[in-house]
Amino acid sequence: MGKVIIKKLKIKTCHGVNDFEKRQPQLFEFSAEVTCDFYEAAQNDEIAQTINYSTVCKIITAVATQNVFNLIETLASRCAEAILDNFPKATAVKVRVEKPQAPVRAKFKTMAAEAELKRVTAYLSLGSSMGDRKAYLDFAVKELAATRGITVKKVSSYMESEPYGGVAHNKFLNACVEVNTYLPPRALLFEIHRIEAAGERSRTLRWDDRTLDIDIIFYGREVICEDGLTVPHADYANRPFVTEPLKEIAPDFICPATGMRVKDILPSPCGGEEA
Ligand code: ADP
Ligand code: MG
Repeated sequence: MGKVIIKKLKIKTCHGVNDFEKRQPQLFEFSAEVTCDFYEAAQNDEIAQTINYSTVCKIITAVATQNVFNLIETLASRCAEAILDNFPKATAVKVRVEKPQAPVRAKFKTMAAEAELKRVTAYLSLGSSMGDRKAYLDFAVKELAATRGITVKKVSSYMESEPYGGVAHNKFLNACVEVNTYLPPRALLFEIHRIEAAGERSRTLRWDDRTLDIDIIFYGREVICEDGLTVPHADYANRPFVTEPLKEIAPDFICPATGMRVKDILPSPCGGEEA
């Protein structure tokens, strides 16, 4: 792995919470670290195979001059997103925005904010038990692919399963999707809820029939145990309608919570554990 680094790119532009900052340009300094594997580029001495730092400067300049933000946090985040959007090869990015002339009555060298994003491989499970179930799963895949920061890499077969948890009556159609994403876990959950809502999902009884359910099964190698978000999904290993499509697209993925390879997870009777 390598890094392409730019330090203190100077741009005069307008950002800040004060009205005058939105009208009068001031100096901003941008630094970026873009992580990518440039082994091949170095072997071939070929610029097309690495992160072109001139392009990075153009991307930062476009974001900095075509928008007016209140916060340097926003500016740094937008630059980081734009860099990852433009370079699929980049696996992580750090953008630092400095505002050395920030209108603050104090002696200081600079004011700065830094945004850091990394790409991860995540696995999502999809399920539908109402209406045109295939159309809802197709809709979910299409919406995921159209979401900024998410690239759909693999989609499993659609598999039919019996209802789960003793509430639903209809048979489900299920699938798993591999995505590449730079959205942090909460942002990914937010997008999933948005897509569920767009798929006419109403949240009524847990485990009840639904047009569309999307769950995060794995988010890279991260283990998250927070209010409203448990990853790896708390009950996935007990749900054959998750593990079977997962075995098809990610047999060798190792669950970061149990250390178990997906293909070695034994089918267990559906129970309905607390998620
Ligand atoms: P389930 O998918 O277990 O049938 P819901 O789809 O109704 O249930 O989800 C209930 C809540 O579970 C969601 O609002 C969400 O905040 C929470 N949740 C916790 N962990 C996850 C996860 N890994 N993926 C999706 N939702 C999760
Ligand atoms: Mg769910």
